[in-house]
Amino acid sequence: VPPPRPPWQAAAYAGLGPAFAAPVAPHPVGPARWLLRNAPLAAELGLDLHGPEAPGLLELLAGNAWRPQTPPQATVYSGHQFGAWAGQLGDGRALLLGEVATAAGPQEIQLKGAGPTPYSRRGDGRAVLRSSIREYLASEALHALGIPTTRALALVGSALPVRRETLETAAIVTRVAPSFLRFGHFEHFCHHGHHAELAELADWTIRRFFPAAQEAGQPVLAMLAEVSRRTAELLADWQAVGFCHGVMNSDNMSLLGLTLDYGPYGFLDRFDPGHICNHSDHQGRYAFARQPSIAGWNLQALATALLPLVGGGPSAREAEREAAVEGLLDAIETYRQTFPTALLHRLRAKLGLRTTQPEDAALADDWLALLAAERLDHTQSWRRLARLRSQPGEGTDPADPAGERWLRDHVIDRPRADAWLARYRARLQAEGSVDAERAARMRAVNPAIVLRNHLAQAAIAEAERGGLDELQRLAQVLTRPYDEPAAALAHYAEPPPADLPPLEVSCSS
Ligand code: AMP
Ligand code: MG
Ligand code: MG
Repeated sequence: VPPPRPPWQAAAYAGLGPAFAAPVAPHPVGPARWLLRNAPLAAELGLDLHGPEAPGLLELLAGNAWRPQTPPQATVYSGHQFGAWAGQLGDGRALLLGEVATAAGPQEIQLKGAGPTPYSRRGDGRAVLRSSIREYLASEALHALGIPTTRALALVGSALPVRRETLETAAIVTRVAPSFLRFGHFEHFCHHGHHAELAELADWTIRRFFPAAQEAGQPVLAMLAEVSRRTAELLADWQAVGFCHGVMNSDNMSLLGLTLDYGPYGFLDRFDPGHICNHSDHQGRYAFARQPSIAGWNLQALATALLPLVGGGPSAREAEREAAVEGLLDAIETYRQTFPTALLHRLRAKLGLRTTQPEDAALADDWLALLAAERLDHTQSWRRLARLRSQPGEGTDPADPAGERWLRDHVIDRPRADAWLARYRARLQAEGSVDAERAARMRAVNPAIVLRNHLAQAAIAEAERGGLDELQRLAQVLTRPYDEPAAALAHYAEPPPADLPPLEVSCSS
Protein backbone atom coordinates (compact mmCIF):
# COMPACT_ATOMS: atom_id res chain seq x y z
CA VAL A 1 0.00 0.00 0.00
CA PRO A 2 1.58 3.35 -1.00
CA PRO A 3 1.70 5.96 1.77
CA PRO A 4 -1.43 8.11 1.58
CA ARG A 5 -0.94 11.66 0.41
CA PRO A 6 -0.98 13.73 3.61
CA PRO A 7 -3.67 16.42 3.68
CA TRP A 8 -1.13 18.99 4.94
CA GLN A 9 1.81 20.86 3.51
CA ALA A 10 5.45 20.99 4.66
CA ALA A 11 5.87 22.99 7.87
CA ALA A 12 7.17 26.50 7.17
CA TYR A 13 9.42 26.22 10.23
CA ALA A 14 11.48 23.57 8.45
CA GLY A 15 12.24 26.18 5.79
CA LEU A 16 14.44 28.01 8.33
CA GLY A 17 17.03 25.35 7.65
CA PRO A 18 19.11 22.65 9.30
CA ALA A 19 20.20 24.81 12.24
CA PHE A 20 16.56 24.83 13.39
CA ALA A 21 15.10 21.43 12.57
CA ALA A 22 16.21 17.99 11.42
CA PRO A 23 14.27 15.65 9.12
CA VAL A 24 13.33 12.48 10.98
CA ALA A 25 11.61 9.32 9.80
CA PRO A 26 9.06 8.20 12.37
CA HIS A 27 9.62 4.73 13.79
CA PRO A 28 6.61 2.60 12.92
CA VAL A 29 4.60 1.62 15.96
CA GLY A 30 3.06 -1.48 14.33
CA PRO A 31 -0.67 -2.21 14.19
CA ALA A 32 -2.44 0.89 15.48
CA ARG A 33 -5.99 1.74 16.46
CA TRP A 34 -7.93 4.91 17.10
CA LEU A 35 -8.58 5.53 20.79
CA LEU A 36 -9.89 9.10 20.52
CA ARG A 37 -10.70 11.22 17.48
CA ASN A 38 -11.50 14.91 17.76
CA ALA A 39 -14.08 15.39 15.03
CA PRO A 40 -14.74 19.14 15.59
CA LEU A 41 -11.03 19.98 15.51
CA ALA A 42 -10.52 17.73 12.49
CA ALA A 43 -13.29 19.63 10.70
CA GLU A 44 -11.56 22.95 11.45
CA LEU A 45 -8.48 21.51 9.75
CA GLY A 46 -10.47 20.17 6.80
CA LEU A 47 -9.80 16.56 7.84
CA ASP A 48 -12.25 13.72 8.35
CA LEU A 49 -10.98 11.12 10.79
CA HIS A 50 -14.13 9.01 10.34
CA GLY A 51 -14.48 9.08 6.54
CA PRO A 52 -12.99 6.99 3.74
CA GLU A 53 -9.57 8.59 4.34
CA ALA A 54 -9.50 7.43 7.97
CA PRO A 55 -7.41 4.25 7.48
CA GLY A 56 -4.67 6.21 5.67
CA LEU A 57 -4.78 8.97 8.28
CA LEU A 58 -4.46 6.37 11.02
CA GLU A 59 -1.19 5.16 9.48
CA LEU A 60 0.11 8.74 9.15
CA LEU A 61 -0.83 9.63 12.74
CA ALA A 62 0.65 6.37 14.05
CA GLY A 63 3.98 7.23 12.43
CA ASN A 64 3.67 4.12 10.25
CA ALA A 65 3.62 6.08 6.99
CA TRP A 66 5.14 9.36 5.82
CA ARG A 67 6.22 11.02 2.59
CA PRO A 68 9.97 11.13 2.06
CA GLN A 69 9.46 14.28 -0.07
CA THR A 70 8.25 16.23 2.99
CA PRO A 71 9.76 14.37 5.95
CA PRO A 72 8.62 15.06 9.51
CA GLN A 73 10.87 17.44 11.45
CA ALA A 74 12.27 17.57 14.97
CA THR A 75 13.21 21.05 16.18
CA VAL A 76 16.07 21.96 18.46
CA TYR A 77 15.72 23.97 21.67
CA SER A 78 17.46 24.29 25.01
CA GLY A 79 16.24 25.58 28.34
CA HIS A 80 16.27 25.94 32.09
CA GLN A 81 14.92 22.98 34.03
CA PHE A 82 14.07 23.46 37.72
CA GLY A 83 15.95 26.75 37.69
CA ALA A 84 19.22 25.45 36.25
CA TRP A 85 20.59 25.64 32.69
CA ALA A 86 19.91 22.21 31.15
CA GLY A 87 21.77 22.62 27.85
CA GLN A 88 20.42 21.28 24.59
CA LEU A 89 17.04 19.55 24.73
CA GLY A 90 14.81 19.61 21.63
CA ASP A 91 11.96 17.55 20.25
CA GLY A 92 13.06 14.24 21.73
CA ARG A 93 9.76 12.58 20.99
CA ALA A 94 7.82 15.12 18.97
CA LEU A 95 7.71 15.29 15.18
CA LEU A 96 6.29 18.11 13.14
CA LEU A 97 4.35 16.52 10.28
CA GLY A 98 3.38 19.71 8.51
CA GLU A 99 0.86 22.52 8.61
CA VAL A 100 -2.66 23.24 7.43
CA ALA A 101 -4.01 26.64 6.41
CA THR A 102 -7.21 27.49 8.33
CA ALA A 103 -9.40 30.54 8.81
CA ALA A 104 -7.47 31.13 12.06
CA GLY A 105 -4.09 30.99 10.29
CA PRO A 106 -1.72 28.06 9.74
CA GLN A 107 -1.92 25.20 12.22
CA GLU A 108 1.01 22.87 12.81
CA ILE A 109 0.43 19.15 13.21
CA GLN A 110 2.78 17.31 15.51
CA LEU A 111 3.07 13.71 16.66
CA LYS A 112 4.18 13.06 20.22
CA GLY A 113 5.75 9.65 20.80
CA ALA A 114 6.64 8.51 17.25
CA GLY A 115 10.14 7.35 18.10
CA PRO A 116 13.62 8.73 18.68
CA THR A 117 15.03 11.90 17.09
CA PRO A 118 18.51 13.46 17.13
CA TYR A 119 17.36 15.21 20.34
CA SER A 120 16.17 12.17 22.28
CA ARG A 121 19.36 11.96 24.39
CA ARG A 122 18.84 8.76 26.38
CA GLY A 123 15.06 8.65 25.83
CA ASP A 124 13.24 6.18 23.62
CA GLY A 125 11.14 8.79 21.81
CA ARG A 126 7.96 7.13 23.00
CA ALA A 127 5.05 8.11 25.20
CA VAL A 128 3.03 5.55 27.13
CA LEU A 129 -0.73 5.13 26.89
CA ARG A 130 -1.30 6.57 30.38
CA SER A 131 0.50 9.86 29.74
CA SER A 132 -0.88 10.18 26.21
CA ILE A 133 -4.43 9.88 27.55
CA ARG A 134 -3.59 12.53 30.14
CA GLU A 135 -2.24 14.87 27.45
CA TYR A 136 -5.24 14.44 25.14
CA LEU A 137 -7.83 14.88 27.89
CA ALA A 138 -6.16 17.89 29.51
CA SER A 139 -5.56 19.73 26.23
CA GLU A 140 -9.19 19.45 25.31
CA ALA A 141 -10.40 20.12 28.87
CA LEU A 142 -8.49 23.41 28.99
CA HIS A 143 -9.69 24.34 25.53
CA ALA A 144 -13.29 23.75 26.56
CA LEU A 145 -12.70 25.90 29.65
CA GLY A 146 -11.59 28.70 27.31
CA ILE A 147 -7.91 28.54 28.30
CA PRO A 148 -5.28 28.88 25.54
CA THR A 149 -3.64 25.54 24.88
CA THR A 150 -2.19 23.25 22.26
CA ARG A 151 -4.96 20.98 21.01
CA ALA A 152 -5.29 17.22 20.66
CA LEU A 153 -6.52 15.92 17.31
CA ALA A 154 -6.24 12.19 17.89
CA LEU A 155 -4.98 9.50 20.21
CA VAL A 156 -3.67 6.33 18.61
CA GLY A 157 -2.89 3.18 20.58
CA SER A 158 -0.58 0.29 19.83
CA ALA A 159 0.71 -2.93 21.35
CA LEU A 160 4.34 -1.80 21.17
CA PRO A 161 5.90 -2.37 24.60
CA VAL A 162 7.56 0.61 26.30
CA ARG A 163 9.62 0.26 29.44
CA ARG A 164 9.04 2.74 32.26
CA GLU A 165 8.87 1.66 35.94
CA THR A 166 6.83 -1.24 34.53
CA LEU A 167 6.20 -2.46 31.00
CA GLU A 168 3.54 -0.34 29.30
CA THR A 169 2.41 0.23 25.71
CA ALA A 170 3.13 3.07 23.30
CA ALA A 171 0.52 5.58 22.22
CA ILE A 172 0.75 8.67 20.05
CA VAL A 173 -1.07 11.97 20.49
CA THR A 174 -1.43 14.25 17.50
CA ARG A 175 -1.10 17.81 18.76
CA VAL A 176 -2.19 20.93 16.90
CA ALA A 177 -1.12 24.54 17.48
CA PRO A 178 -0.24 27.60 15.39
CA SER A 179 3.29 26.96 16.65
CA PHE A 180 5.06 24.85 19.23
CA LEU A 181 7.76 27.50 19.71
CA ARG A 182 9.08 27.61 23.27
CA PHE A 183 11.11 30.17 25.20
CA GLY A 184 13.82 27.51 24.93
CA HIS A 185 14.09 27.86 21.13
CA PHE A 186 15.46 31.39 21.64
CA GLU A 187 17.59 30.40 24.63
CA HIS A 188 19.21 27.73 22.46
CA PHE A 189 20.63 30.07 19.82
CA CYS A 190 21.67 32.74 22.31
CA HIS A 191 23.47 30.30 24.59
CA HIS A 192 25.50 28.85 21.72
CA GLY A 193 26.40 32.30 20.44
CA HIS A 194 24.54 31.69 17.16
CA HIS A 195 23.31 35.26 16.91
CA ALA A 196 22.57 35.19 13.18
CA GLU A 197 20.20 32.25 13.69
CA LEU A 198 18.74 33.97 16.76
CA ALA A 199 17.96 37.04 14.63
CA GLU A 200 16.53 34.89 11.87
CA LEU A 201 14.27 33.09 14.34
CA ALA A 202 13.05 36.37 15.86
CA ASP A 203 12.35 37.88 12.41
CA TRP A 204 10.44 34.80 11.30
CA THR A 205 8.45 34.65 14.53
CA ILE A 206 7.54 38.33 14.46
CA ARG A 207 6.47 38.23 10.82
CA ARG A 208 4.34 35.15 11.34
CA PHE A 209 2.89 35.52 14.85
CA PHE A 210 3.43 39.10 16.04
CA PRO A 211 2.90 41.21 12.90
CA ALA A 212 1.82 44.23 14.96
CA ALA A 213 5.31 44.30 16.53
CA GLN A 214 6.80 45.07 13.10
CA GLU A 215 5.42 48.61 13.40
CA ALA A 216 7.27 49.24 16.67
CA GLY A 217 10.66 51.00 16.86
CA GLN A 218 12.15 47.81 18.34
CA PRO A 219 10.06 44.85 17.11
CA VAL A 220 11.87 42.38 19.38
CA LEU A 221 10.91 44.40 22.47
CA ALA A 222 7.33 44.70 21.23
CA MET A 223 7.21 40.94 20.74
CA LEU A 224 8.59 40.34 24.24
CA ALA A 225 5.99 42.68 25.75
CA GLU A 226 3.24 40.81 23.91
CA VAL A 227 4.61 37.42 25.02
CA SER A 228 4.64 38.79 28.58
CA ARG A 229 1.04 39.96 28.28
CA ARG A 230 -0.17 36.62 26.93
CA THR A 231 1.76 34.72 29.59
CA ALA A 232 0.10 36.87 32.28
CA GLU A 233 -3.36 36.14 30.87
CA LEU A 234 -2.54 32.43 30.73
CA LEU A 235 -1.31 32.34 34.31
CA ALA A 236 -4.42 34.20 35.45
CA ASP A 237 -6.49 31.52 33.72
CA TRP A 238 -4.56 28.71 35.43
CA GLN A 239 -4.77 30.29 38.89
CA ALA A 240 -8.46 31.08 38.55
CA VAL A 241 -9.43 27.55 37.58
CA GLY A 242 -6.96 25.77 39.89
CA PHE A 243 -4.70 24.26 37.23
CA CYS A 244 -1.20 23.24 38.27
CA HIS A 245 1.14 22.69 35.29
CA GLY A 246 3.78 20.79 37.22
CA VAL A 247 6.87 21.35 35.01
CA MET A 248 7.19 25.05 34.21
CA ASN A 249 10.68 24.69 32.78
CA SER A 250 11.53 27.38 30.21
CA ASP A 251 11.43 24.74 27.48
CA ASN A 252 7.79 24.04 28.35
CA MET A 253 6.74 27.71 28.05
CA SER A 254 4.94 28.53 24.81
CA LEU A 255 5.97 31.69 23.02
CA LEU A 256 2.32 32.11 22.00
CA GLY A 257 1.05 31.93 25.59
CA LEU A 258 -0.48 28.47 25.19
CA THR A 259 -0.56 25.74 27.80
CA LEU A 260 2.09 23.36 26.48
CA ASP A 261 3.51 19.94 27.45
CA TYR A 262 1.12 18.13 29.72
CA GLY A 263 3.03 15.88 32.09
CA PRO A 264 2.44 15.63 35.82
CA TYR A 265 -0.19 18.42 35.79
CA GLY A 266 -3.13 18.45 38.18
CA PHE A 267 -6.37 20.29 38.76
CA LEU A 268 -6.78 21.13 42.42
CA ASP A 269 -9.28 19.12 44.38
CA ARG A 270 -9.09 20.53 47.93
CA PHE A 271 -7.74 24.06 47.77
CA ASP A 272 -4.13 24.07 48.86
CA PRO A 273 -1.96 26.93 47.56
CA GLY A 274 1.14 24.87 48.33
CA HIS A 275 -0.06 21.93 46.27
CA ILE A 276 2.77 20.21 44.34
CA CYS A 277 1.41 18.03 41.56
CA ASN A 278 4.76 16.74 40.28
CA HIS A 279 6.11 13.90 42.40
CA SER A 280 9.66 14.69 41.16
CA ASP A 281 9.45 18.33 42.33
CA HIS A 282 10.95 17.83 45.78
CA GLN A 283 11.51 21.54 46.48
CA GLY A 284 8.03 22.55 45.39
CA ARG A 285 9.46 24.97 42.82
CA TYR A 286 6.33 24.51 40.72
CA ALA A 287 3.79 24.46 43.56
CA PHE A 288 0.42 25.96 42.63
CA ALA A 289 0.89 29.35 44.30
CA ARG A 290 4.40 29.75 42.88
CA GLN A 291 3.33 29.44 39.24
CA PRO A 292 2.87 33.18 38.66
CA SER A 293 6.34 34.07 39.94
CA ILE A 294 7.92 31.17 38.02
CA ALA A 295 6.35 32.48 34.81
CA GLY A 296 8.06 35.81 35.56
CA TRP A 297 11.35 33.99 36.09
CA ASN A 298 10.96 32.23 32.73
CA LEU A 299 10.24 35.55 31.01
CA GLN A 300 13.53 36.84 32.40
CA ALA A 301 15.27 33.84 30.84
CA LEU A 302 13.62 34.66 27.52
CA ALA A 303 14.55 38.33 27.83
CA THR A 304 18.17 37.38 28.52
CA ALA A 305 18.20 35.29 25.35
CA LEU A 306 17.04 38.30 23.32
CA LEU A 307 19.78 40.62 24.62
CA PRO A 308 22.03 40.26 21.53
CA LEU A 309 19.12 41.35 19.32
CA VAL A 310 18.50 44.69 21.04
CA GLY A 311 22.01 46.08 21.21
CA GLY A 312 23.37 44.02 24.11
CA GLY A 313 25.58 41.63 22.15
CA PRO A 314 29.13 40.71 23.23
CA SER A 315 30.72 43.64 21.34
CA ALA A 316 28.35 46.23 22.83
CA ARG A 317 29.76 48.99 24.99
CA GLU A 318 28.73 49.22 28.64
CA ALA A 319 26.20 52.03 28.10
CA GLU A 320 24.65 50.26 25.11
CA ARG A 321 24.28 47.06 27.03
CA GLU A 322 22.68 48.88 29.96
CA ALA A 323 20.17 50.50 27.63
CA ALA A 324 19.41 47.10 26.06
CA VAL A 325 18.83 45.52 29.46
CA GLU A 326 16.61 48.44 30.43
CA GLY A 327 14.48 47.91 27.30
CA LEU A 328 14.08 44.19 28.00
CA LEU A 329 13.16 44.80 31.64
CA ASP A 330 10.55 47.32 30.55
CA ALA A 331 9.07 44.78 28.14
CA ILE A 332 8.73 42.02 30.75
CA GLU A 333 7.39 44.53 33.27
CA THR A 334 4.22 44.07 31.22
CA TYR A 335 3.89 40.69 32.95
CA ARG A 336 3.99 42.14 36.46
CA GLN A 337 1.52 44.85 35.43
CA THR A 338 -0.91 42.55 33.67
CA PHE A 339 -1.05 39.48 35.88
CA PRO A 340 -2.63 40.89 39.09
CA THR A 341 -5.24 42.81 37.12
CA ALA A 342 -6.01 39.82 34.92
CA LEU A 343 -6.43 37.55 37.94
CA LEU A 344 -8.59 40.03 39.85
CA HIS A 345 -10.74 40.45 36.75
CA ARG A 346 -11.37 36.69 36.72
CA LEU A 347 -11.97 36.49 40.48
CA ARG A 348 -14.55 39.28 40.26
CA ALA A 349 -16.34 37.37 37.53
CA LYS A 350 -16.16 34.17 39.57
CA LEU A 351 -17.74 36.04 42.50
CA GLY A 352 -20.46 37.28 40.16
CA LEU A 353 -19.57 40.94 40.64
CA ARG A 354 -20.41 43.39 37.88
CA THR A 355 -18.95 46.53 39.39
CA THR A 356 -15.49 47.31 40.71
CA GLN A 357 -14.83 48.17 44.34
CA PRO A 358 -11.52 48.66 46.13
CA GLU A 359 -12.35 45.91 48.63
CA ASP A 360 -12.89 43.23 45.95
CA ALA A 361 -9.33 41.89 46.06
CA ALA A 362 -9.57 41.36 49.83
CA LEU A 363 -13.00 39.74 49.45
CA ALA A 364 -11.61 37.25 46.92
CA ASP A 365 -8.42 36.65 48.93
CA ASP A 366 -10.39 35.97 52.10
CA TRP A 367 -12.66 33.54 50.26
CA LEU A 368 -9.59 31.65 49.01
CA ALA A 369 -8.04 31.77 52.49
CA LEU A 370 -11.26 30.27 53.87
CA LEU A 371 -11.15 27.47 51.27
CA ALA A 372 -7.49 26.82 52.13
CA ALA A 373 -8.04 26.82 55.89
CA GLU A 374 -11.05 24.52 55.59
CA ARG A 375 -9.44 22.42 52.83
CA LEU A 376 -12.59 22.79 50.75
CA ASP A 377 -12.86 21.53 47.21
CA HIS A 378 -11.84 24.37 44.87
CA THR A 379 -14.12 23.67 41.90
CA GLN A 380 -17.14 22.67 43.97
CA SER A 381 -16.90 25.63 46.35
CA TRP A 382 -16.85 28.22 43.58
CA ARG A 383 -19.66 26.46 41.74
CA ARG A 384 -21.82 26.26 44.90
CA LEU A 385 -21.37 29.95 45.55
CA ALA A 386 -23.62 30.61 42.56
CA ARG A 387 -26.57 29.30 44.62
CA LEU A 388 -26.15 31.85 47.39
CA ARG A 389 -29.05 34.29 47.87
CA SER A 390 -28.05 37.90 48.34
CA GLN A 391 -30.78 38.25 51.02
CA PRO A 392 -30.51 35.58 53.73
CA GLY A 393 -33.57 33.31 53.86
CA GLU A 394 -35.07 34.48 50.56
CA GLY A 395 -34.99 31.36 48.37
CA THR A 396 -37.69 28.89 47.40
CA ASP A 397 -35.75 25.81 48.53
CA PRO A 398 -37.16 25.15 52.05
CA ALA A 399 -34.14 23.05 52.99
CA ASP A 400 -31.71 25.79 52.03
CA PRO A 401 -33.49 29.14 51.56
CA ALA A 402 -30.29 31.17 51.72
CA GLY A 403 -28.32 28.84 49.46
CA GLU A 404 -25.56 28.69 52.05
CA ARG A 405 -26.20 25.30 53.60
CA TRP A 406 -23.47 23.45 51.72
CA LEU A 407 -20.80 25.88 52.79
CA ARG A 408 -21.96 26.06 56.42
CA ASP A 409 -22.11 22.24 56.57
CA HIS A 410 -18.60 21.84 55.19
CA VAL A 411 -16.70 24.28 57.39
CA ILE A 412 -15.37 23.83 60.89
CA ASP A 413 -15.01 27.53 61.66
CA ARG A 414 -18.62 28.64 61.11
CA PRO A 415 -18.24 32.14 62.53
CA ARG A 416 -15.47 32.79 60.02
CA ALA A 417 -17.56 31.47 57.11
CA ASP A 418 -20.62 33.45 58.28
CA ALA A 419 -18.56 36.62 58.56
CA TRP A 420 -17.31 36.20 55.01
CA LEU A 421 -20.81 35.42 53.72
CA ALA A 422 -22.12 38.57 55.37
CA ARG A 423 -19.46 40.71 53.68
CA TYR A 424 -20.14 39.06 50.33
CA ARG A 425 -23.90 39.58 50.68
CA ALA A 426 -23.39 43.21 51.57
CA ARG A 427 -21.21 43.61 48.50
CA LEU A 428 -23.84 41.93 46.27
CA GLN A 429 -26.64 44.07 47.72
CA ALA A 430 -24.60 47.22 47.21
CA GLU A 431 -24.54 46.60 43.47
CA GLY A 432 -28.18 45.52 43.33
CA SER A 433 -27.25 42.00 42.29
CA VAL A 434 -30.15 39.89 40.96
CA ASP A 435 -29.76 36.32 42.18
CA ALA A 436 -30.92 34.35 39.12
CA GLU A 437 -29.06 36.56 36.69
CA ARG A 438 -25.87 36.44 38.77
CA ALA A 439 -26.10 32.66 39.18
CA ALA A 440 -26.16 32.20 35.40
CA ARG A 441 -23.12 34.45 34.98
CA MET A 442 -21.25 32.60 37.74
CA ARG A 443 -21.98 29.20 36.23
CA ALA A 444 -20.53 30.41 32.94
CA VAL A 445 -17.15 31.07 34.58
CA ASN A 446 -17.04 28.55 37.45
CA PRO A 447 -16.90 25.08 35.88
CA ALA A 448 -18.84 22.18 37.34
CA ILE A 449 -16.41 19.67 35.89
CA VAL A 450 -12.64 19.75 35.62
CA LEU A 451 -10.25 16.93 34.76
CA ARG A 452 -9.55 15.69 38.26
CA ASN A 453 -6.77 13.12 38.51
CA HIS A 454 -9.06 10.38 39.74
CA LEU A 455 -11.35 10.82 36.72
CA ALA A 456 -8.41 10.51 34.32
CA GLN A 457 -7.15 7.55 36.31
CA ALA A 458 -10.44 5.64 35.99
CA ALA A 459 -10.40 6.12 32.21
CA ILE A 460 -6.72 5.12 32.03
CA ALA A 461 -7.23 1.95 34.09
CA GLU A 462 -10.02 0.80 31.79
CA ALA A 463 -8.09 1.73 28.63
CA GLU A 464 -5.05 -0.21 29.85
CA ARG A 465 -7.36 -3.25 29.95
CA GLY A 466 -8.53 -2.48 26.41
CA GLY A 467 -11.84 -0.73 27.18
CA LEU A 468 -12.56 2.68 25.70
CA ASP A 469 -16.06 3.47 27.02
CA GLU A 470 -14.99 5.49 30.05
CA LEU A 471 -12.25 7.30 28.11
CA GLN A 472 -14.62 8.34 25.37
CA ARG A 473 -17.38 9.30 27.83
CA LEU A 474 -14.98 11.43 29.90
CA ALA A 475 -13.60 13.13 26.77
CA GLN A 476 -17.19 13.99 25.82
CA VAL A 477 -18.14 15.24 29.32
CA LEU A 478 -15.09 17.52 29.38
CA THR A 479 -16.26 19.36 26.26
CA ARG A 480 -19.10 21.01 28.32
CA PRO A 481 -17.47 21.93 31.65
CA TYR A 482 -19.82 24.79 32.50
CA ASP A 483 -23.07 22.87 31.95
CA GLU A 484 -24.91 21.62 35.00
CA PRO A 485 -24.26 17.87 34.68
CA ALA A 486 -27.26 15.59 34.18
CA ALA A 487 -28.00 13.27 37.12
CA ALA A 488 -26.25 10.36 35.38
CA LEU A 489 -23.08 12.43 35.09
CA ALA A 490 -23.20 14.06 38.53
CA HIS A 491 -20.26 11.99 39.81
CA TYR A 492 -17.95 13.77 37.35
CA ALA A 493 -18.45 16.92 39.41
CA GLU A 494 -17.62 15.24 42.72
CA PRO A 495 -14.24 15.42 44.46
CA PRO A 496 -12.32 12.14 44.80
CA PRO A 497 -13.45 9.74 47.53
CA ALA A 498 -11.75 10.76 50.78
CA ASP A 499 -10.06 7.38 51.15
CA LEU A 500 -8.48 7.41 47.67
CA PRO A 501 -4.70 7.88 47.99
CA PRO A 502 -3.46 10.82 45.90
CA LEU A 503 -2.08 9.83 42.50
CA GLU A 504 1.69 10.21 42.15
CA VAL A 505 2.64 11.56 38.74
CA SER A 506 6.19 12.45 37.80
CA CYS A 507 8.09 13.67 34.74
CA SER A 508 8.92 10.24 33.32
CA SER A 509 6.10 9.09 31.10
P1 AMP B 1 9.86 17.30 29.54
O1 AMP B 1 10.39 17.15 30.94
O2 AMP B 1 8.75 16.36 29.23
O3 AMP B 1 9.53 18.71 29.21
O4 AMP B 1 11.03 16.85 28.55
C1 AMP B 1 12.31 17.42 28.57
C2 AMP B 1 13.12 16.92 27.40
O5 AMP B 1 13.21 15.51 27.42
C3 AMP B 1 12.55 17.29 26.04
O6 AMP B 1 13.64 17.56 25.19
C4 AMP B 1 11.84 16.03 25.63
O7 AMP B 1 11.71 15.91 24.24
C5 AMP B 1 12.75 14.97 26.20
N1 AMP B 1 12.05 13.70 26.46
C6 AMP B 1 11.15 13.44 27.42
N2 AMP B 1 10.73 12.16 27.35
C7 AMP B 1 11.40 11.59 26.33
C8 AMP B 1 11.45 10.28 25.77
N3 AMP B 1 10.69 9.29 26.24
N4 AMP B 1 12.26 10.07 24.72
C9 AMP B 1 13.03 11.05 24.23
N5 AMP B 1 13.05 12.29 24.72
C10 AMP B 1 12.26 12.57 25.77
MG1 MG C 1 8.78 19.41 27.47
MG1 MG D 1 6.96 16.51 28.32
